[in-house]
Formats: sequence, structure tokens, C-alpha cells
Amino acid sequence: MTKITNFEVIRVSLPFETGGPRKGMRPSLDAWLSMECIMVKIKTSDGLEGWGEAFGHAMAPGTEAVLNNILGPMLLGKDARGIAKRIDEIERPMHGLGRSGPVMYGLSAIDIALWDLAGKRAGMPVFRLLGGDSGKLKKYASLMRYGGDIDAIAENVTRAKQNGYSTIKLHETTVPAFRAARNAVEQEDNICLDVNCPWTVAEAKAIAEEILYDGFHWLEEPVWPPEDFIGLAEVRAEGVPISAGENMTTLHEFKSAFEAEAVDNIQPSVTKCGGISGMKRIFTLAQAYSVRVVPHCFYWGPGYNATAHLAASRPEPTLLETAFIDLIVQPHGLFDASESSLDLSEKPGLGFEADWEALSSYVISSHSISG
Ligand SMILES: [Mg+2]
Repeated sequence: MTKITNFEVIRVSLPFETGGPRKGMRPSLDAWLSMECIMVKIKTSDGLEGWGEAFGHAMAPGTEAVLNNILGPMLLGKDARGIAKRIDEIERPMHGLGRSGPVMYGLSAIDIALWDLAGKRAGMPVFRLLGGDSGKLKKYASLMRYGGDIDAIAENVTRAKQNGYSTIKLHETTVPAFRAARNAVEQEDNICLDVNCPWTVAEAKAIAEEILYDGFHWLEEPVWPPEDFIGLAEVRAEGVPISAGENMTTLHEFKSAFEAEAVDNIQPSVTKCGGISGMKRIFTLAQAYSVRVVPHCFYWGPGYNATAHLAASRPEPTLLETAFIDLIVQPHGLFDASESSLDLSEKPGLGFEADWEALSSYVISSHSISG
């Protein structure tokens, strides 16, 4: 038995610059000034430590409380090797507390940390444990929201291209903003539009019709609410490729989206949908429905490493979403938005080796239990 002896939750908030005006990712949210990360560190009796990340952002205090008070105590003393069983032991008793939200986010962090431990125990990187052939990955640049500022959009799309990115995603919601990005680069460069669920189906169809011949690579989450897969399928029928998935959590939600023929690209998020185990299940399901996988990854912590290893585990090239931001400090060697590609090392596990000297001033809370 490889006993779980210590469970620690560390919340870090890193200020960042965007290269333009600061806006919330949705009009109703305040300007985003720093990016939080909820890290889980699990120590085991064989002297190893595994790192995971839970979805946080505006929900960070809730997820943190669930990890500290409910999920962590459930794990102490258990065998870290039986990942599927450990997750099942949490997921079943907690099923009435929300099939999305803090419980599932916390569970995702635990799964990621247990996979990190499995890789370290096996002496190999997680992407190899998952059957991957190479640690080389291409990224796509995921720009922050510039509130429709045409000059800032054109400038940052150009900057991303100069950094080597050939796929660039906006978080804007107006057609002039979309076209400012499109016109800033060549036609062979891919411009993606992530609008974060603002429109009715009718409104989204009208926009899709308007931009049909502009050559956008995809339109992401055009419909409110995000779980309206039938409505999303109606928008997709207009002909613009549709992406969605970061707001789906359970396997059955993904199945419903595939059954509705709602998406061209599925975007599961490792810190929400059940960690590495959840992502693996969704990859297989997507294959059965012939849907392309482009994981969601608006993270800089262990969730970023986990997504990179999952992308590298796939037989076809899979782009790694990377937030196009300048963090106040570089948190670890793998996260660098100024580079458009990366090569995972042969370090065992997820290779999450944070620069704690740099990060320590940005820790806003931490809590540890042993047993
Ligand atoms: Mg998105």
C-alpha cells in the first residue's frame, strides 16, 4: 500500500499584464487583474508528492473550502495507487451535491495529483504512461478580453503571430472586433472566436450567418445557456465550425452534446471534468462520434501540465491552449506564453516544478492535513 499521508491545498494569485485594456471575460465580471490557481499537493508514504489543480477563478473560495473540509479528509490514509477506486469513493457519496461545481472541481484536482504520483512511481512522464509518442506540442494563443478595442486586438493578434502562433483565439463579442483580428494576420492563420455564452439561439444564428464567409476557425460557446445543445446544433447548421465543452462536466453531458451534433470541436477542461481519468474517457467518446478534441486550458498551474501531457498522449497533433498573458513571475519552466511550442521533458509525473521562491509572495492561503 502507498498510503496518502498528507493533503495540502495552496491558493496562489498571480497578477498579469495583457498588452491592452483590462476587461472582465464577461461584461458582468470585473476586470481580471490576477489569475488564481488552486493547487492540491498529495504526499504518500513512499516519499513522493503529486500535484493537481482544481478549477477556481471566481469559484476559488468555494472549491478551496470543499477540498479542505470534505474531500481531503476522505482521502487520508487511503492507497494512492487505486486511482479509479479512490475517485469512485468520492464521487458516489457526493453525487447529490452537484454534478458540476466545487465537488467535481476538487475531485478533478485529486485525480490529477494521483496521476502525477503514478508517473513518479513508475519513473516516467504521464504522457508516456498514457501511451504518448512525443512530448512536442504546438500551442494556440488564447487572448484576454480587450473590450472590443480594435487597436489593442489587432496589436495583440499581431504580437501573438510574431511569437510564432498560427492559431489565435479572441474573447470578444462584436463583429468589428472579430474582423479586426482577421485583418491583422494572413488568411492561412487561424482566428478563433470565444464569446462565452452571450446570445439566444436566434442571435447566435444571425451572427454566424453574418461571419460565415470571413473564414474564422471556430465560434466557441455562442449560446446561453451553455447546456442548450439542441440550440447549439441549430447555430452549427449555419456552417461556422462550433467549439464548446469547458462547461460540461460529466461523461453523459458530453454524450448529450455529441448526440445533438452540437460541436465540431470538443473542449473538455481537466480541472473540471474529472481530471486525467475524466479527460481520457471523453477522448474515447469523442473518437466514437468523430469529434475533434481541443482541450480547454486557461490555467498556468498543474492543470496546464496535465493538459499538456494529455495532448501529448494523443495520436494526432492536439493544440495546447495557452493564455496569452505576461504573469508577474514565471511560475514554472513549462508555462511561457511567449513561446508557441513546448517539449515535455522525460521527468517522471507531470513535471510540475514550481519556482516557490518566486511564487511564495503570491500565496493567498494554504491548508494542510496529515494522517
Ligand atoms: Mg472558452
